[in-house]
Amino acid sequence: MSTFAAVDVIIAKRDRRELTGEQIEWVIDAYTHGEVAEEQMSALLMAILLNGMSGTEIAHWTTAMLNSGIRMDLSQVGRPTVDKHSTGGVGDKISLPLAPLVAACGAAVPQLSGRGLGHTGGTLDKMESIPGWRATLSPAEMTAQLASVGAVICAASADLAPADRKLYALRDVTGTVESIPMIAASIMSKKIAEGTGALVLDVKVGSGAFMKRSDHAAELARTMVELGAREGVRTSALLTDMSTPLGVAVGNAIEVAESVEVLAGGGPADVVELTIALAREMVALAGLDADPADVLASGRAMDSWRAMVQAQGGDPDAALPTPKFREIVVADTAGVVSRLDALSVGVAAWRLGAGRARREHDVQQAAGILCRAKPGDVVAVGQPLFELHTDTPDRFPAALADLADAVDIAAPGTVVGKTPLVMEVIRG
Ligand code: URA
Repeated sequence: MSTFAAVDVIIAKRDRRELTGEQIEWVIDAYTHGEVAEEQMSALLMAILLNGMSGTEIAHWTTAMLNSGIRMDLSQVGRPTVDKHSTGGVGDKISLPLAPLVAACGAAVPQLSGRGLGHTGGTLDKMESIPGWRATLSPAEMTAQLASVGAVICAASADLAPADRKLYALRDVTGTVESIPMIAASIMSKKIAEGTGALVLDVKVGSGAFMKRSDHAAELARTMVELGAREGVRTSALLTDMSTPLGVAVGNAIEVAESVEVLAGGGPADVVELTIALAREMVALAGLDADPADVLASGRAMDSWRAMVQAQGGDPDAALPTPKFREIVVADTAGVVSRLDALSVGVAAWRLGAGRARREHDVQQAAGILCRAKPGDVVAVGQPLFELHTDTPDRFPAALADLADAVDIAAPGTVVGKTPLVMEVIRG
């Protein structure tokens, strides 16, 4: 591999020149091995955030991160593989009902998931509220479970795109997360390394998402769909609304409970709608002709959920953790809920202990918020808007402050226009 001076790579990007494939390959490899200093990579990341990257640079950056670790081989699974990745939202528990549903349709879903950081929750934190369930599987255990059950939700091993792990931690503390090229490369390097044959991206738009604007979200989606196609992974993206939380529950154990309701044929209409929409796209990319709505109604997705939880040591019938303290927020005017802000609810749930401020912190499994009124709902004075849960009641005041402006109530009779949940579909 060629060798460069890190400062020359930084200057090139500072001066808006396109980086070569060799420069990118070298800088990612050298940084991963500790040969490029943190302050140099920080400067390069800021130059990329400010000046952007061309499509060719993004493709090289993604390949370099992919090549920093292993690429899993799922060819032994014996079913078409298809995964889903969400860019992260509030109350986004969709992976939980979706993975077993798509497995019950005949595919294998290798969901390598992460933990929450900041106001967006993490799938592993949610699943860990199931007594006995373990997130860590060896590659052999993962492949065996994919072949037998068809779905696995587990932690990504340390040798999968290690460059991204290091870079993401640096981006987090240098104000450089919000760069479309780097978000696209970060997500796609991990998903391609996971070995899935097809991928559906749920790109969130709105206050509770990374991308607040739909044009930015569409650009991110198109960038990722192109990266997938280049690496032979059939990829499509749904742009979905994250201006308001998904479903009623925002937390860990309460999101598991809501997911089980969906698998049992109930649950909030928006969670069911998005689960079915993503499942239809996944099933189509996997080349199967099952209808996920019929499979959900048949109870077979619930059977797959139970098998998936049990295969990882969990007890699907065990009681989920409950909070030691609860507090209710009620409406002080009558009318129609015209806005429920996802970011405020996500931050409040995080303050109650559902999320972590630092990677090494534990989450409270029972902490979170139940949103008792959603946009379009009619409320009377004194009717509950939120139910707050925590094990540490000194957290209530800060969470209540976050919720103070989270809801708007319009005059009785107001017709509240709703943003469609699925805003756009982008296919390769
Ligand atoms: N999720 C990722 O995995 N990477 C990012 O950069 C942003 C969200």
